[in-house]
Amino acid sequence: MSFQNPVFIPGPTNMPEALRRAVDMPTLDHRSAVFAEILHPARAGVKKVLQSDSAEVFFFPSTGTGGWETAISNTLSSGDHVLAARNGMFSHRWIDLCQRHGLKVQVVETNWGQGIPADKFEEILTEDTSHRIKAVLATHNETATGVKSDIAAIRRALDAADHPALLLVDGVSSIGSMDFRMEDWGVDIAVTGSQKGFMLPAGLAIVGFSPKAMQMVETATLPRTFFDIRDMGKSYAANGYPYTPAVGLLNGLNQSCEMLLEEGLNNVFLRHRRIADGVRAAVKAWGLELCAASPDLYSDSVSAIRTPEGFNATNIVIHAADTYGVAFGVGLGEVAGKVFRIGHLGMLTDVLALSGIATAEMCMADLGLEIQLGSGVAAAQEVYRTTTATPIKAAA
Ligand SMILES: *Cc1c(COP(=O)(O)O)cnc(C)c1O
Repeated sequence: MSFQNPVFIPGPTNMPEALRRAVDMPTLDHRSAVFAEILHPARAGVKKVLQSDSAEVFFFPSTGTGGWETAISNTLSSGDHVLAARNGMFSHRWIDLCQRHGLKVQVVETNWGQGIPADKFEEILTEDTSHRIKAVLATHNETATGVKSDIAAIRRALDAADHPALLLVDGVSSIGSMDFRMEDWGVDIAVTGSQKGFMLPAGLAIVGFSPKAMQMVETATLPRTFFDIRDMGKSYAANGYPYTPAVGLLNGLNQSCEMLLEEGLNNVFLRHRRIADGVRAAVKAWGLELCAASPDLYSDSVSAIRTPEGFNATNIVIHAADTYGVAFGVGLGEVAGKVFRIGHLGMLTDVLALSGIATAEMCMADLGLEIQLGSGVAAAQEVYRTTTATPIKAAA
């Protein structure tokens, strides 16, 4: 693998030099006053990125998976019912985590390539008149399939059913790259990590809790120690941390938020959409199809690309690494061998994206697929040179 080339995996993502430098800092005493100057601005920055006025933000030395565990262990009790759709590897893994914690998960099996069926959720929630379901889990962007789900529609389903369940959302591969509105969508817990939209090394679980989720913390009885947000909250109030924080990562996160907010969230989202549009144009030019079933589901942070029947898509990823020193994502779970993934989130530019598209083309041609060299690149070039980065208008 070459360290010269960008990666095209949907996390960890490429790191801007400024963020690498921000993470690389001398040891400092986290009990000294300077720690607060990193911690508090990072919390304020993340709150803005989550587009929330009321969220409490917490950081754990962990990853997105630890964020899932933080979300459930602080708000739920053994035997509680939760509702979730399984439409890819990440929603599957969150369901598994809940089951291992003794939660009863009502799983809505959904085709991989489809989004979360909000109408089905509404039906189930409406029938649940005794409010046995305590939380609805939603993976905003299924990184395994490149499918985006409509979180606002899930909030509407909860509201239409007049159901009090918490809405817990995995935004690990959307937050900081695709529009994510914690406040507007009534998200009770937002979960992410440092290594995707925030363009940092892995190592932080990042969670936002709504006031309603904060209220559940006292009654929830799932065991928790490391991930107890009460200890976190108490320490933050005293400008500290309940154990040793990942200071460098927090410093990087603070800078990452500054970068994203300086660019403007809408501009960040638009940049991701343009880059993704170019990749999608290339896929079409190759005569291939996305795993995502329809355009409203297309993810702007990752594309899972179906290869022809009888061809092992994983070979593209292996060949790219061995021959060109470039990383693409393999298919996971049900779509293993059927898709390969191009991650296009984080610090990518048009130019970097073109290099990834060109490499994918070479790999597919090398492996005998009928791909016209340059076809995808040309299609993406057309997208990039004919669209300009005007801010997308905020949706109503
Ligand atoms: C990457 C990812 C995760 C897992 O996060 P880790 O940081 O690897 O623990 C969870 N959900 C989604 C949607 C992801 O893309």
